[in-house]
Amino acid sequence: MSDPTSFLLPADRIPKAWYNLNADIGEPIPPPLHPATRQPAGPDDFAAIFPENLIMQEVTTERWVEIPEPIREVYALWRPTPLLRAVRLERALQTPARIYYKYEGVSPGGSHKPNTAVAQAYYNKVAGTKRLATETGAGQWGSSLALACSLFEMECTVYMVRVSFEQKPYRKLMMHTWGAEVFASPSDHTEFGRKMREIDPDCPGSLGIAISEAIEDTVTSKDTKYSLGSVLNHVLLHQSVIGLEALEQMEMAGAEPDVIIGCVGGGSNFAGLAFPFVERKIAGKASYRVLAVEPTACASITKGDLRYDFGDTAGMTPLMMMKTLGHDFMPPPIHAGGLRYHGMAPMVSHAHKLGLIEATALAQSHVFESAVKFARCEGIVPAPESAHAVAAAMDEAIAAREAGQKKNILFGLSGHGMMDLASYERFLNGELQDV
Ligand SMILES: *Cc1c(COP(=O)(O)O)cnc(C)c1O
Repeated sequence: MSDPTSFLLPADRIPKAWYNLNADIGEPIPPPLHPATRQPAGPDDFAAIFPENLIMQEVTTERWVEIPEPIREVYALWRPTPLLRAVRLERALQTPARIYYKYEGVSPGGSHKPNTAVAQAYYNKVAGTKRLATETGAGQWGSSLALACSLFEMECTVYMVRVSFEQKPYRKLMMHTWGAEVFASPSDHTEFGRKMREIDPDCPGSLGIAISEAIEDTVTSKDTKYSLGSVLNHVLLHQSVIGLEALEQMEMAGAEPDVIIGCVGGGSNFAGLAFPFVERKIAGKASYRVLAVEPTACASITKGDLRYDFGDTAGMTPLMMMKTLGHDFMPPPIHAGGLRYHGMAPMVSHAHKLGLIEATALAQSHVFESAVKFARCEGIVPAPESAHAVAAAMDEAIAAREAGQKKNILFGLSGHGMMDLASYERFLNGELQDV
């Protein structure tokens, strides 16, 4: 053993405040619009679905938002998360590059999502909410919110995209274990769900449809609020703990990253890792490349348009200025269920427009091939979503080898894939096709 390969922070280094890129981005983000009037939506327009404390976080331009102690106490169950150097992978790739990754798979939910689930459950609890309703794609968000609700003694209802509900029974069982109720979406539990099932009884569902169902449930029920696992400003804010810890850990490693990489579904784990670094880039303290990686099958940044669009399929949410494939886009059932969303976080879309970040799209087979290689070198089986970041980091390391170039690569390993082994099985059996 020569150089250290793991960079661990003590418990008292859990960040005390979240970082908000909205304070530094310069050009303001276009405001959300009311779905009916198409006028800028104010805090009141969100009051039916979110508590006031989270609405205030959604619009704040404060740079630092203090993290309440009860949230830090829960974070301490798994934070600070480790930052590791993938030396065995570097050797296998024969690259002069150094590959670092920030690992969020150590949370009880197995991904970064509990970082915001815990915060949202806490703020709802203090605002008097009794039940949270939400949607989930592959089940990571639903299980994270179920976990958070159980920790703060609240009820939780999850609308789970039908194709995942059927392919991933274990996540449903995690949600049941943490005390949540789970419906396959489209469901018979809401008017919108019944309508979708009438049109197509075999509808595989989508995040957009499930969001519509969760919102309908929320606005037609008492003491119930809605919770979203990505896309919104306050979600990206909560995820900044990833990057704030990583900044400190890269300093421990004595390495300034040249490129920072994250996978993007709605954009939250990527923003959480990258934005604290983007702040340094804006301040002129560093010049990183910051790379968002999406699947070719649902490529909202690289193939979508920057325009106002709804966050859901039914058109019930406010319109957001974002990179979008259209709210009625029905993504093919790829295995990275968490990346099957038609839009992209407005703040990530805006940072892309301003040239602060770049994006690339990768095909599923290349992604799984890279993930298997990573697992065989480093042990951890990446979540299929995170595998997109793994593949892009490996592509960077190979390019560095070919150019004979030393560089530091930092990527976000947003979760583990132990609940997604069925998709690995399909890949290993040669059954996985690119769409
Ligand atoms: C949900 C999920 C994603 C995608 O969501 P973002 O908001 O883009 O981060 C990525 N990785 C994992 C492991 C996930 O569970």
